[in-house]
Amino acid sequence: MPNKIIIIGAGVIGASTALALLKDGHRVTLIDQDAPCSGASSGNAGAIVNGSCAPTAMPGIIFDVIRMIGQPLSPLTIRPSYFLKILPWLLRFVLQSRSSAVYKNATHLHGLTQHAVKSWRQLTGHTELSSLLRETGWLKVYETKKKFASTSKSRELLDEMGTNYEVLSAAQIHDLEPNLAPIYKQGYIQNDSLSIVDPQRLVEGMVDLFVSRGGTYQQFGVDVINIDNGKVNVRGSNGNLTTDKAVIAAGAWSGSFAQQLGDSIPLDTERGYHLMLPQSTADLLNRPVVNGEYSFVLSPMTEGLRMTSQVEFAGLSAEPDYSRVRSLLPAVKNMLPDVEVREQSVWMGCRPSLPDSLPVLGFSRQSNKVLYAFGHHHLGMTLGAISGLIIADLVAGRKPLVPVSPYRPDRFSKL
Ligand SMILES: Cc1cc2nc3c(=O)[nH]c(=O)nc-3n(C[C@H](O)[C@H](O)[C@H](O)COP(=O)(O)OP(=O)(O)OC[C@H]3O[C@@H](n4cnc5c(N)ncnc54)[C@H](O)[C@@H]3O)c2cc1C
Repeated sequence: MPNKIIIIGAGVIGASTALALLKDGHRVTLIDQDAPCSGASSGNAGAIVNGSCAPTAMPGIIFDVIRMIGQPLSPLTIRPSYFLKILPWLLRFVLQSRSSAVYKNATHLHGLTQHAVKSWRQLTGHTELSSLLRETGWLKVYETKKKFASTSKSRELLDEMGTNYEVLSAAQIHDLEPNLAPIYKQGYIQNDSLSIVDPQRLVEGMVDLFVSRGGTYQQFGVDVINIDNGKVNVRGSNGNLTTDKAVIAAGAWSGSFAQQLGDSIPLDTERGYHLMLPQSTADLLNRPVVNGEYSFVLSPMTEGLRMTSQVEFAGLSAEPDYSRVRSLLPAVKNMLPDVEVREQSVWMGCRPSLPDSLPVLGFSRQSNKVLYAFGHHHLGMTLGAISGLIIADLVAGRKPLVPVSPYRPDRFSKL
């Protein structure tokens, strides 16, 4: 039966969910406090990494964290003012790096990512949006054999899950990316992956498509959500709205809504940064390339070469600190000698992250009238389309394409 449904948050997850619910015949209103795609979905590296399965908490992560803190070019920072706040999350995160947990998390991550490309094709097929996706693969390169060897656990997981990848020699890397400096001894590529040439245009285009097909977009900040008399009430700067069902897809800001409904979910943010290089530099690479030594990505996009990097724990409201991403420019030049390292713009976005690297997809504890779709950490662009399809299945009472029990909101209550 068609329902009146409100979705809070118009990032990639909200927009994908909106299109999937509309297709099922529901009357859907998508709400965002800003213009569509104002959060993490705009400034990312744009990779759709099919079959990705290594969780962020891998064995030995505790030693990596200790080693990285305080190093000037380290990809990880914890603001001292946020240290005590993030400590419980970090402890849970470290627990997730036990071998048994890593294998379980990898299996469930792969359960979703194996459908990434297929579901994006389904969502964008027969629309102009498909022209924003390119079949490029996802390439990682390493200067030293030692550093490459440190990825063996991740590659073992790819093997175990059956994800295609190819180990590359220096000559093969050069053939794929002739403009890279000839310093990369080894690498690997996941050929089945796609890249998005303009993530913001993709998500804005999805919202335009949603509106052109009869969906409603409203711009206002939501403060309160509750369930009363079998209806969901959503209250914010635009007054009150009443609806049959609601989906919380507000990315890193979703925690307070879940809290209001009695669900305590350890959602925090791993903030990330980008720095855009001039448009003329975009042609220097054929695909997104991960620099394995410094943990940054160079992604060729329509508006230029985008360098993304950093995991910063500082909460949702601290001012961005662009100094780290700027300090990586010499390493970018070292990687790509012909690049013009002239900064065009910088950006910071909030990845919505849970300690087990799995999103939350499912019903709130209080009622099946509210569903959660958030916590997609480093893989929200990869998982957007499949998450929308799963939420539509749950609303319709269909068996979801992927069993959702590993992503249930109450999975942390036992930890
Ligand atoms: C540097 C960086 C690189 C990345 N690279 C990749 C990559 O290559 N591949 C990949 O798969 N993923 C990548 N990611 C991760 C990906 O960008 C995120 O996981 C994804 O964008 C999360 O989408 P979302 O829709 O959940 O959240 P968001 O895009 O943040 O959207 C949430 C929306 O909710 C709105 N909102 C918040 N509060 C309210 C409120 N009270 N009322 C109304 N609206 C509200 C916000 O305005 C926002 O528009 C990267 C992230 C970063 C930071």
